[in-house]
Amino acid sequence: MKKINSFCFEGKRVLIRVDFNVPLNSSLEVSDTSRIIAALPTIKKVVNDGGKAIVMSHLGRPENKYEDCFSMKHVLSDLKALIKAPVFFSNDCIGKNPKSLISKMPNSSILLLENLRFYPEEKKADYNFAKKLSELGDFFINDAFGVAHRNHASNAILPKFFNTRSCFGFLLSSEINQLNKVLRSQKRPVTAIIGGAKISGKIEVIQNLIQHVDNLIIGGGMAYTFIKALGGDVGSSILEKDKVLLATKILSEAKLNEVSLLLPVDSVNAKAAKNNATIKTSKINKINAEYMGLDIGPESILRFTNVISSSKTIVWNGPMGVFEIDAFSKGTVGVAKAVASATNNGAFSIVGGGDSISAIKRFNFESNISYISTGGGAMLKYLEGSVLPAVSAIQD
Ligand code: AMP
Repeated sequence: MKKINSFCFEGKRVLIRVDFNVPLNSSLEVSDTSRIIAALPTIKKVVNDGGKAIVMSHLGRPENKYEDCFSMKHVLSDLKALIKAPVFFSNDCIGKNPKSLISKMPNSSILLLENLRFYPEEKKADYNFAKKLSELGDFFINDAFGVAHRNHASNAILPKFFNTRSCFGFLLSSEINQLNKVLRSQKRPVTAIIGGAKISGKIEVIQNLIQHVDNLIIGGGMAYTFIKALGGDVGSSILEKDKVLLATKILSEAKLNEVSLLLPVDSVNAKAAKNNATIKTSKINKINAEYMGLDIGPESILRFTNVISSSKTIVWNGPMGVFEIDAFSKGTVGVAKAVASATNNGAFSIVGGGDSISAIKRFNFESNISYISTGGGAMLKYLEGSVLPAVSAIQD
């Protein structure tokens, strides 16, 4: 596969799949432009080469038809403000409208296409839909890491029409390179921190990480299933009864691989996940029946911080508790602080997943993290050891 810098796009129509699935506020304005900013280097490369950048993305979850609240037109003014080049908009992503706009637009300009997911064919990885998209470009660049784990028309099928005239954009390449730093790291010890509500969505990633890391820290709701597996009383904490055996298996896999698997030792508990609820901190394996564990306790924060601060490579996905509620956010803040300070002391850190990133942003640790991944789901899939459909489509 050729690298983006080995192409010159002068006079060419270049289709770029980006991830502009940005959050919109109630006035339908973009409330966080990070994903637009992340795609700019690739768009600028095409514009600066003198090519026509035809930018396509999905936005939100439309029900397979036009819905004004999911129109890409809401992203237009931010894209215009962020790039010094003319930006046009096509109210369709295939057919006559974009074709005619592309033929009229000057080189070094940008055309933003309407939401790909207004066509059900996009998510069905439909060949003919991909073919229609392909008619808009001479080259194809995939820069949408956030959906790289999805088998959709615009990222997994479209590259087939371009063969050697396709490549990864700067963002997608950099995401893969950064994640490889974790999976192939020589900077040891390597520590993975996995949190979030349930084990279910993260089993494969935990099992694969056990092959690669020295320390595996587990926090959040999923920790209680592990504690149950060890014979603890977890009260009415979130518990996946059908995953208790699996948790036991993971604990022994960690032992077998000489991975130090750290679970919380104490837990911040309440009868309800509310700010004004009465809070009781207890040993994590001795939670009263009517209480649920909603955050890791101070002793756990201390233990996790010690391991994180002696690590040289760190990957983090998922909160340590119900961090959206202040009363249960201390564990997640503590981990965010520990990762930031280890990074300041020379460790390489990568953080992904909406919740972990919003915790990092909420407490202003962004500049103290080595790399913030733009794709939580794709990051987890890659860390599972899976081949991402969008990646293999271009490498093949
Ligand atoms: P995930 O999408 O799996 O990363 O889970 C994120 C969600 O897990 C967040 O919304 C947290 O509020 C929730 N969460 C974290 N810890 C707990 C817990 N102890 N009990 C219930 N929910 C939790």
